[in-house]
Amino acid sequence: MKYISCPQLEHGITFYSNSVMICCISSHAGGGNICQIDNYKGELIDWDKFFEKRRQLRANSTNGIPDKCEGCYYLKEQEWPEGDYIDEVLIGHWTYCNCNCTYCYTNSDKKFFNSLRTYNIMPVIRDMAEKNILSKDALITFGGGEPTILTEFEELMDFLSDYGIKRFRIHSSGIKYSKSIERCLEEGKLALIVSVDSGSKEIYEKVKCVPCFDKVWENLREYAKHNKGSLIRTKYVLMPYVNDSWTQIKNWLNMTQEAGIKDIAFDIEDNWFKANREQVPETVYEMLDFVYNHYGEFGMNSCELYERASNYRIQHDEQK
Ligand code: SF4
Ligand code: SF4
Repeated sequence: MKYISCPQLEHGITFYSNSVMICCISSHAGGGNICQIDNYKGELIDWDKFFEKRRQLRANSTNGIPDKCEGCYYLKEQEWPEGDYIDEVLIGHWTYCNCNCTYCYTNSDKKFFNSLRTYNIMPVIRDMAEKNILSKDALITFGGGEPTILTEFEELMDFLSDYGIKRFRIHSSGIKYSKSIERCLEEGKLALIVSVDSGSKEIYEKVKCVPCFDKVWENLREYAKHNKGSLIRTKYVLMPYVNDSWTQIKNWLNMTQEAGIKDIAFDIEDNWFKANREQVPETVYEMLDFVYNHYGEFGMNSCELYERASNYRIQHDEQK
């Protein structure tokens, strides 16, 4: 039977530093951020209760769509596979990072976030595998924070690879080179996304607040050498009045090409977008449009638009 839903609502799980959520999507009208378990610190999960709670959420919502999903562009009508299993895992339980982006939500209280302790996620991941809750076709995403500095990172990657997972998506600052990432790139299992947000050292340091521009590009070039069938994307998070310069954007595209990387991602900074979504300057669309329509001219194979950019493009096209 066809009905409206999304992959995360059906079979997704998101681990945060103190909660388990359904997904990490939040820029649409409903606001997302649907909590499944509060005050979570890595305890084993009662999976019967977990899936029952998910069913109840659907049953208590109009047409099976929770209010917090309203307007989310991930919703679509199709046949959805049945069963109590997970095939979309987002690991975002980090509490500290080796980068310091001005747009990071931890900037609201850096001291507090740096003082939190990241729980061990291995036990719950192992439990999911042992109970066949985790599909071997699952996509495992490390979202936010810096996975390569997690003490469990190598163990996690080895365990999940041995278990049979073939699709990883890792967001990394690119500051620390990782042998696990290198291995995954060689095995053709990985989408690696590194946000550089600039086309020069000066703007990089303005956005990221760490002196690591050269190191990140050195690591990107090295990762590119080991890429055998995986995907590496450099990403540009557009921050109006900070890095919204044509020179920066073109330098970023040229540097990506020179590093031997063939794929990019683009987004608009979350906080700014949420505060200004009704009055986005036309230049933002022009930059987005330029990147999306001209990436091939810079030797790129693809451009992924992240949540805000994708939303904005849809809204803007509808208004035309
Ligand atoms: S519809 Fe959107 S907000 Fe709702 S669960 Fe899916 S991705 Fe998350
Ligand atoms: S890399 Fe991500 S987690 Fe780290 S400071 Fe930047 S936005 Fe925050």
